[in-house]
Amino acid sequence: MKQTYYFAAWTDSGCLLGCDHQHQTVTSAAACINMPGGYVAAVETSLRELTEWEEAEFQMAKYGIGGEPPKDKNPVRQLGWLPIKRYT
Ligand SMILES: [Zn+2]
Repeated sequence: MKQTYYFAAWTDSGCLLGCDHQHQTVTSAAACINMPGGYVAAVETSLRELTEWEEAEFQMAKYGIGGEPPKDKNPVRQLGWLPIKRYT
């Protein structure tokens, strides 16, 4: 199984910067953003963009709203320390 972690990311003067943590959830990394326009990046074997599920979690964590997450066979997703959010 791939080990994935997340970090808060932002740009400054054309450089990609980020926090030094290896957050276990998108929500945790989103809470670490301290710059306007910050985002969350995922790392598996290399840096990658967020999946649709991860993006929905980011939108919920950062803005309290989320688009309709993609349907899959496991509609319950744990959001870190938050109560389980059930998408129906
Ligand atoms: Zn962090």
